[in-house]
Parts: sequence; structure tokens; C-alpha cells
Amino acid sequence: MEDLLIHNALIVTANPAFEVIPRGFVSARKERLTSVAAQVKGRALPPAREVIDAGGGIVLPGLVNAHTHLPMAMYRGLADDLPLMEWLEDHIFPAEARFATPENIAWATRLSCAEMLLGGVTTCCDGYFEADAVAAAAAEMGLRAVVGQGVVDFPAPGVPDPAGNVAAAEGFVRRWQGRSPLITPAIFCHSPYTCGAATLKAAKAAARQAGVLFQIHLAETREETARLTRAEGCSPAAYLARLGVLDRQTLAVHGVWLNEADIRLLADSGAALAHCPESNMKLGAGIAPLAAMRAAGVRLALGTDGCASNNDQDLLREMDTAAKLHKVRSGDPTSFDAATVLRMATSQGAEAIGLGAAIGSLEAGKQADLIVLDPRHPALNPCYNPVSQVVYAAAGDAVQHTVVAGRLRVRNRRPVDWSLPPILEAVNAIARDIAAARPPAARGR
Ligand SMILES: [Zn+2]
Repeated sequence: MEDLLIHNALIVTANPAFEVIPRGFVSARKERLTSVAAQVKGRALPPAREVIDAGGGIVLPGLVNAHTHLPMAMYRGLADDLPLMEWLEDHIFPAEARFATPENIAWATRLSCAEMLLGGVTTCCDGYFEADAVAAAAAEMGLRAVVGQGVVDFPAPGVPDPAGNVAAAEGFVRRWQGRSPLITPAIFCHSPYTCGAATLKAAKAAARQAGVLFQIHLAETREETARLTRAEGCSPAAYLARLGVLDRQTLAVHGVWLNEADIRLLADSGAALAHCPESNMKLGAGIAPLAAMRAAGVRLALGTDGCASNNDQDLLREMDTAAKLHKVRSGDPTSFDAATVLRMATSQGAEAIGLGAAIGSLEAGKQADLIVLDPRHPALNPCYNPVSQVVYAAAGDAVQHTVVAGRLRVRNRRPVDWSLPPILEAVNAIARDIAAARPPAARGR
């Protein structure tokens, strides 16, 4: 007896051969997939406790959002249309200093998890402060997450004395290793311009010691890249390489201003890169040289970034943006085709955040993390090619069911084991306090 059976499905497996099964079924026992196969006339489907007829709808692996800051949902729309440094220093950092309490962080994390689960993301890779509150809230909501404790060389939420920043991250990792099947702890150094060399080295050493992912924003804007290059006499990527920070368990984020030598450093070290096109576009940061990175063999993933800089966490829309942005940059409509981008949001994303063996494709033995798209959604009809449909036509509102670790978390667009109204009420109350506390000059920006 299986626990879950989804049949009459158009399955995009995202497995290594990138197989598509025109009419098939997937089954799961407990948290794992037991079969992913074509339906054969005359052959009975396996019996299961819970049976879902996909109605011919597209079934694909749950999406992997490789870079976000879950609690930043509380700052969604707080200050838009500003340069990165002004946005961070005049608006985000001051709001964080007052409002990033564990309780507020837990509520905002729940809102982000709700948005992601309803929109087809089953795993995210997060970096923020008060990571215990983030991890507990994500686990409670049923979202799989790599959760990084933030490290910066100035007082931060939960870490008033920066001298204890790496120890705080180590403590978080220790507390969460093996604690929840959905949570994988990690260490997140904010950037080479907010962490000094000693901090970067110590944080990477701690991550290596614990065998966890090390995440860092890298070369996001031209100004920040130029400033660090002047100070260190080499590019940010070369600087990280010199400190010994780049390896297969490092996830660099953005990489908008990488030069050819930087790209080779990433490729040779095995470090992965999370591309966040909508955040880069919104902050006017530029277009990451993704085609060059792909040609060099850099491991690529896709992320939304936090929702203060996007402002949503819809990875279906992000795929559409990524595919189109790189066609604009290259002038070549055949570049970054739908399958390439879908891999970044599934199997390659899972690899990049260290979960490639467990998730990212629909294969027997892997975790049953999957989504079912609504075959009656107008934007999904007709369907000549399910992969291009997913990338170019679907948005988060096309997701009908979401399964994480074999459990239905969203059924018919409704959450199964949590309720949205109290989350909205709590986060909107926090937002009213944040708005009221702003200096008059900052309002209306
Ligand atoms: Zn970010």
C-alpha cells in the first residue's frame, strides 16, 4: 500500500535524461518516491491511501529557490526604486535594527513559506539573522530549507557583539544538524564588504568543519565590486579565492560583475552560483554573465532573493524572466532555452545547495517533493510542450497541489495544515509598526 498516488499526469521528471512522461503516475511511501512511470493500459495502478487524479496536468519536481531571505517578507515594498547602498543603509538596516526580533522574524518567515508553498517552491536556501526562529518557522510550515545563520562585522539582530558572529553561526549549525528532516543548517556571510578577511576565513572554516554550505553575496553591484577591488587589489572573487573560501560547498549569490578570470575561479573551485535576475533588474545591478558561466562549467542555480528586493518569491515567474533576460543580453533566442532554465530551478538548484542526492528530480528513492499544475488554468492551454509551458506561461497561481516529503501541503490551492489569515494579520500588524517608526523623510519613498 502506497501513501500517495498521483495519476493521469503529464510528468516532467527533470531526471538526468530530462525525460517527459506524457501520461504517467508517481507514488510515494512515507517521505520517498516509490515509482515514477508511464501508465500502461491493462496494468493496475498501485493502491494508495491518498489518490489524486491530476486530470492530465503537469507534474514536476518541487522548485528549488536557491537564494532568499525569508524574514524580509516584512519589508516587502517598504522602499523601492532606490540604489542598493541607499536602500540597505537608509531603509533596510535601520528597520532591521528595531524590528528583526525572533517573533517578527518567525511571522515573516511563515508568510514567505506560505507564498512559496502556494507558488510551487518546496525548498529554499535562506540567509538571515535569528536563524533559529527562521528554521523553526519553516519546519512548522512544512517547507524544506537550507537555513544559513547570517554573519556580518557589525551588530546584528540576535548578535549584538560582532566578535561572537561566527560562534553564533556555529552554535546554530550544531543545534540544527539532525534536528528536523526538513532543515539543513548553513552559514551565510553577508558579503566580502560587510565581513572582514578574518571573519570570512573563520566562518568558512566553521562551515567546513561542520560539513555545511557556506553562502555569500558576491559582486552584486558595480560600485561595491570597484570599492573592494580598490581596497584589496583584486576582484571580489579573486579575494575570496585568496582567502580559501571558494569550494564545492560554497554558494555565491548574484555574480553580476564577474570577469573572465573570476568565472574561471568559480568553475575551477566548484563553487556554485545562485542567479537572481529580478532582484538584479530591480536594483539596476546589471545582468550576470550567465552564458559565460555556463560555458565555463559553473554550477548554476536560480533564486528570487528576499522579497524586499524582488518583491515576490514566485520562482515560476523568475524562470520566465531568466530565460528572456539572457536572450536580450545575447540577442540569441535559442540561448537559455526552457529546459536549461528549468534545470536551474530544479535538479541543478538542488545540487548547488547540497541537496542533489535527495531532491530536484522525480526519481524513485528521492524525496517526494513535487507540484501539480492546474490543467484548467487558461494560461496552460493548449499544451504542445510542457517544459516551455512551465517556464514561459505558468506563474505561481497555476500551482494546484504541493507535496513536500510525501505530504500534501497545498491541496486545490488551499493550505492543508496551516491557515493564512492569522499570518497575514500578524505580518500586517508588524508592517504598521515599521511604517509608523520611519522618519518623516523616509516615508513615501
Ligand atoms: Zn540576497
